[in-house]
Amino acid sequence: MNIYNPSNEQLLKSIQEDSAQSLQDKLHQLRQGQIQWEQKAVADRLECILKFGELVQENIDDLARILTSETGKPIQQSYNEIRGAHNRVEHLKNNAEKWLADNVIEGLEGTYEKIMHEPLGVVANISAWNFPYNVGYNVFLYALVAGNSVAYKPSEFAALTGLAITDLLYKAGIPKDVFQCIVGDGTIGQAMLEADFEGYFFTGSYPTGLHILKEVSPKMVPVQLELGGKDPLYIMDDVKEVKVAAINAAEGAFYNNGQSCCAVERIYVHEKIYNEFVEYFLEEVEGYVIGDPVSEKTFIGSLTRKGQLNLLRNQVNDATSKGAKLLLGGDELAGKGNFFAPTILTEVNHEMLVMKEESFGPIIGIQKVNNDEEAIALMKDTEYGLTAAVFATAQQRAEKVLKAMNTGTVYWNCCDRVSPNVPWSGRNKSGVGATLSSQGIRAFTQPKAYHWREV
Ligand code: NAD
Repeated sequence: MNIYNPSNEQLLKSIQEDSAQSLQDKLHQLRQGQIQWEQKAVADRLECILKFGELVQENIDDLARILTSETGKPIQQSYNEIRGAHNRVEHLKNNAEKWLADNVIEGLEGTYEKIMHEPLGVVANISAWNFPYNVGYNVFLYALVAGNSVAYKPSEFAALTGLAITDLLYKAGIPKDVFQCIVGDGTIGQAMLEADFEGYFFTGSYPTGLHILKEVSPKMVPVQLELGGKDPLYIMDDVKEVKVAAINAAEGAFYNNGQSCCAVERIYVHEKIYNEFVEYFLEEVEGYVIGDPVSEKTFIGSLTRKGQLNLLRNQVNDATSKGAKLLLGGDELAGKGNFFAPTILTEVNHEMLVMKEESFGPIIGIQKVNNDEEAIALMKDTEYGLTAAVFATAQQRAEKVLKAMNTGTVYWNCCDRVSPNVPWSGRNKSGVGATLSSQGIRAFTQPKAYHWREV
């Protein structure tokens, strides 16, 4: 498989893809290794993960360079991601033993019951490229600590990062028959669906997620899907400073080139502050440095996948043909690499793709609303259910809106963030199941109820 740098189209490396046969061999090894791995104490398994966390920090310069080279992520954002993902390691350190311990319940007349949290076995982790550390850690670190062995398929657009992570896990003491990297695109992903895993944990798009759900459902094993979103942000008229709201909203929309599952994908602004907000928003985005992702000054690098350029151009054309106003950008940049200019559309409505279909790029629609009721109706007008955000001063008023949202996450005066302390989950087309928090480790276990009586 050839890996290209999306910012200059140069070949980075050719790597060996897995075949159906090598997948079967790896699965066989993982099955053997899991039996011993499960026998180890949680503390021993955790020790390897803590060591891995240290190694990642020691090698951060190389890892950030690899991530930027294959995804086009601005180098500072690569550092941010790798540093930020470490909070999963800390979270496991502080909580895993507690969450995986048996829960004993003393009954009447010498009867006892307990809940045991047994690992699922060998699990498949099919992953996305946009935040490979964050979304990878959410699955494979928690799965390993819970006693599973893992077949980890990084995205074909983050395969070098996946291989670098694998190398460091081995150096940290994770046995090779407990963790294996499966290299390739959807073809080997499909072979994983046909193989016999005891759980499927997927991060990626809705169409692939739906396909996976249909394919593996006859196996009757747990399937978790962390999918896309069309996440709304509503700016109320009582925000303390419109300028600050605009700066934060722009960052939520354009960070990582808008290629975040929980990026702000559409903005609604109360009519009283609409003009002021749009002015500040435009000023902020005009100031973004676009260019070589290796430069520390760059905020907007190249998109990871070339195909996305067409989708974005199509959203712009669709919106402008239906009456939207193009305030900024609107097309790809000339020259090599998958660069798309940061794009702002106003006078948009829900007849337009840009307000309905996941953009996953540096493009945003801003719509004026007259009141909270109108904002709620528009925010809810989506098939997705990942996150929703409100910027406002009055808490009660903000919470009325957030309560109405059918999303796994809501934000008040913040957006586009994930924390290991709380579950990460989507509703409707944004997914099934949750990672992170205590739920995120339980996802990799199956309960066994044990009843006993003193004789
Ligand atoms: P994708 O669906 O194209 O690919 C995801 C993974 O699935 C890749 O590893 C790919 O090789 C694999 N795959 C493709 N076809 C397959 C098949 N037939 N069988 C098995 N595996 C197959 O998604 P992507 O482009 O990598 O990621 C972008 C999407 O992911 C966006 O929609 C984004 O919102 C979503 N995402 C969601 C979260 C979340 O936590 N909810 C996090 C990151 C990304």
